[in-house]
Amino acid sequence: AAFLSSDPIIPTAPVTAEMRDALRAIVGEKGLIEDEHGKQPFVTDWRGLLVGGAGAVVRPGSTEEVSRVVRLCHEHGIAIVPQGGNTGLMGGATPWPAHTGIVLSLGRMNRVLDVDPVGYAMTVEAGCVLQTLQETASQHDRFLPLSLGAQGSCMIGGNLSTNAGGVQVLRYGNARNLVLGLEVVLPNGEVWDGLRALKKDNTGYDLKHLFMGAEGTLGIITKAVLKLWPAPKDVCTAWLAIRDPRAALEILSEAHSASEDNVGSCELMSRSAIDMVLRHIPGTQDPLKAETPWYLLLEWSSARPRRDGTEGMSEKLEQFLADQLEAGRVLDAAIAHTVGQSRNMWRIREGVAEASRAEGPGLSYDVSVAISRIPEFIDKGTKAVLDILPSIRPYPLGHIGDGNLHFSFMGPVGMDQQTLAQYKGAITRAVNDLITSMGGSISAEHGIGVEKLDELSHYRSKTELDIMRTIKRALDPQNIMNPGKVLRL
Ligand code: FAD
Repeated sequence: AAFLSSDPIIPTAPVTAEMRDALRAIVGEKGLIEDEHGKQPFVTDWRGLLVGGAGAVVRPGSTEEVSRVVRLCHEHGIAIVPQGGNTGLMGGATPWPAHTGIVLSLGRMNRVLDVDPVGYAMTVEAGCVLQTLQETASQHDRFLPLSLGAQGSCMIGGNLSTNAGGVQVLRYGNARNLVLGLEVVLPNGEVWDGLRALKKDNTGYDLKHLFMGAEGTLGIITKAVLKLWPAPKDVCTAWLAIRDPRAALEILSEAHSASEDNVGSCELMSRSAIDMVLRHIPGTQDPLKAETPWYLLLEWSSARPRRDGTEGMSEKLEQFLADQLEAGRVLDAAIAHTVGQSRNMWRIREGVAEASRAEGPGLSYDVSVAISRIPEFIDKGTKAVLDILPSIRPYPLGHIGDGNLHFSFMGPVGMDQQTLAQYKGAITRAVNDLITSMGGSISAEHGIGVEKLDELSHYRSKTELDIMRTIKRALDPQNIMNPGKVLRL
């Protein structure tokens, strides 16, 4: 792949037998994986595209153990790749290329330490699986809004380290907006205790924001205090066949006031993305008979319980859709009347990443631009890519309310990964040049990892890169914390 041509050089000392003994003494027998078979899932990225190697996989059970492991690695110059659920899409959690440092997996640190329903906050360890946290909040009649397709396996430490987005950003913001406090183990093993449950705290630099979105290059997040919201009590999901992406923006802009500011999600999907999911994800069903090129998944939700005789979300949404049909923006629509129908709609939307893996070789660009310019970007970008490879098959979709498009393509029928890779450089450059010329970002929510290392250097100014390098060198002068990710030093 063209953008991975100059592989990063990973400076690390080898993990010797003595070192493994020292690690075992800290984390115990069950905290150390040494055999190749056991290490395999930890050194392979979710997409199966990058396979690296590690001297050991270390699974500490507490902050103290993380601190002691990091201190040991710091003393011996051993590189550390922090890892949560290993669902990241940019290769940030993979020790790659061949690597002799350690993977430090947070999976055993999976305790919910405190739920404070009155204070709308929850204190958790970094290895808690996102879905478990959503369920815990719900048991306390509270809501943790972070929601994404990988929620059954991604972990909160990984979510914060990638500043994950997902399908509720429109209303609640990215992962970093959901955090009150953090605990972090620094690259020298020192623990920074910033685990404060404070909404207001203007005491100098807000350090927690340094570590969120840093993809494990500045330290290891071990605990977090998360904000909670009132649990939604009245939710209505609808599946709309729409005129075009411009209509999607008009619908969203009117939906805010028509729903009384209760729009939870607004997801744009192309017909080709839906067809791909229906082909590969068992049990999914097309919610509408209509076959048009563009669709919208719209969800309105309110924390106010529905009362008999009053108008709830479904009546309001029904009336809104009737108006939009009349205006010609919506061509057909289905409202979910059962939980099963709503789940099916969400399964289609959230099944896209899984379906694309099953479909075979492809390219995907996670970009953002001012919301009003999304239709223009789709038109120009699709043309630019088809000019390079006319038989490539676009399946754009995205969190349209956030100006975030997953500008994705299935490879031409029958084309293998290696052949497609020959076009990747030219296509990547065309897409990124266009999004940059439109004032957008080359990475909206998935981060940089190793995939976009060269692109970050190319598209960000020297001033920005210098600031990032200064921060990295100040916190990690030895470059042991996820080296070769995000920044070339
Ligand atoms: P990992 O993949 O394990 O790690 C990701 C990065 O964070 C790596 O650089 C790693 O070194 C670092 N890291 C992990 N844990 C820590 C820690 N405790 N301290 C410091 N660094 C750490 N992303 C979105 O933003 N929105 C989506 O809608 C979305 N949908 C997805 C759907 C599917 C099906 C899949 C497979 C992925 C999707 N993703 C999405 C990407 C991915 O799920 C997110 O990036 C997620 O936040 C990663 O969490 P993780 O625990 O798997 O992290």
